[in-house]
Amino acid sequence: MNLTQLDDWLKLRDDTNLPSGMWIDGRSVSAEDGATSPLVSPRDGEVLTRLPAASAGDVARAVSSARAAFDSGIWSRVSPRERGLVLIRWAELLEEHRDEMALLIALEMGKPVSVAWNVELKTTIGLIRWYGELADKLMDESPRGKGDALALVTREPVGVVAAITPWNFPMTLSTFKMPAALVAGNTVVLKPASQSPLSVLRAAQLATEAGLPDGVLQVITGSGPVTGAALATDNNVATLTFTGSTDVGKQLLHYSAESNAKPVWLELGGKSPNIIFPDAPDMAEAIKTAGWAIAFNSGQMCTAGSRLLVHRDVHDEVVTGVTDYLRALKVGDPLDPETDFGPLASRRHRDDVLAEISKGVQTQAKLVLGSDQPLDRAGWFVEPAIFTGVKADDRLAQHEIFGPVVSILAFDDEDEAIAIANNSAYGLGSAVWTSNLSRATQISRRLDAGLVWVNCFEEGDYSVPFGGRKLSGHGGDKSVHGLEKFTTTKTTWMAV
Ligand code: NAD
Repeated sequence: MNLTQLDDWLKLRDDTNLPSGMWIDGRSVSAEDGATSPLVSPRDGEVLTRLPAASAGDVARAVSSARAAFDSGIWSRVSPRERGLVLIRWAELLEEHRDEMALLIALEMGKPVSVAWNVELKTTIGLIRWYGELADKLMDESPRGKGDALALVTREPVGVVAAITPWNFPMTLSTFKMPAALVAGNTVVLKPASQSPLSVLRAAQLATEAGLPDGVLQVITGSGPVTGAALATDNNVATLTFTGSTDVGKQLLHYSAESNAKPVWLELGGKSPNIIFPDAPDMAEAIKTAGWAIAFNSGQMCTAGSRLLVHRDVHDEVVTGVTDYLRALKVGDPLDPETDFGPLASRRHRDDVLAEISKGVQTQAKLVLGSDQPLDRAGWFVEPAIFTGVKADDRLAQHEIFGPVVSILAFDDEDEAIAIANNSAYGLGSAVWTSNLSRATQISRRLDAGLVWVNCFEEGDYSVPFGGRKLSGHGGDKSVHGLEKFTTTKTTWMAV
């Protein structure tokens, strides 16, 4: 990181102009009726700026100009290599503006600036570059089916891709969608969460600077129920890709059915089990990672290790270790490079998390760390919370809290661990800690989840898909597989 002191970041804050309009047709645009909504920083409750609240009419205009840009061929028909070079140039510009981008993320959703810089932007820049480099390495097929005819199976862009994204990783999760859709030749209309539009708006400006033609990437701002719903029901949208809550994901399926039956790709919530056996190869590492898995990003992770399943023989050791880890976190201003643990993203979300802790306190489970009261400081802070004695069917083990609240469940053997782990409506992340290879293999086969980590947590790479099953959604992002949803196959037969 280039800026190592809080004062450096405060100065950058003073020197930075925040985006104030939507990014449509390569320029900053207001809502037609001038409507705006305030954007509040979770760091201190300050109103950072006001941003357009796009109406259904604004959305329709953004989509139809994305459709016109697609039809013009200015992007959809240029060579894949040219598209790739624009993405690579975009990644370079994001790298040049990495401090500013990290600042915007920290201001809008409260992520510690060091995490925004080191983790979120690393993934964002790397993934855009990865898709850029992939652009000219994709092949079509020509199966040798017949002697008197030639079949070509070509992958074509779908048209306008709508992407709706959440606030917990505003850049990374938008980047799970944008470069894959763009490299395939589509145009994109992105609606970031109303809590965190700044970084994506700035990134779209940089995309234009990198040479992305006007209309190819549009970013619209506004609420989910108005702006998001208008986008999801627009008949000019060919494909909808979403990351967010399960409830909204289900609603989007209705929107599709009520409009043009567009495919809807969903990355939804989770309640990931993290299973520790006494033969974990490095118990200290397993314990530290269990703490990290619920504290990272203040627990606002779809993959948070929010169900910690611990073998009874090591239960007390793990509880003590995780408690010590969480107590040692440096809670503070997200702009302070020393901060490990920032606020929750909004006052409403903080209150929801505290309400869940309060409900947990009413049960047989024991709150061994944390409180159902906010921390006494500016911003939307809560203390990390640990519940022990949680039962598999308890709300604490079933409901996604999306905050720093870990439920610890004891088990006696492998079968019981699997039964608890799979007793969930979700199926996103999962982890198992053991040095027994056969146990690791068997458990990873039996876990009903899209992602399994053995003796690690949250491992990932651009080249590897990320996604879940059951109510965690379908249609993973990243990797070459992430491209499939943004293309459609065409079969062409030629008599020879
Ligand atoms: P959310 O579902 O409330 O909002 C996500 C997006 O949907 C936002 O842009 C929002 O404005 C929009 N939206 C809300 N209502 C809408 C509607 N009626 N029509 C259209 N759009 C609408 O989610 P959130 O609170 O921003 O994020 C937290 C959720 O996201 C958690 O459930 C978390 O698990 C999930 N998530 C999943 C993944 C994953 O990859 N599986 C990653 C991160 C977050």
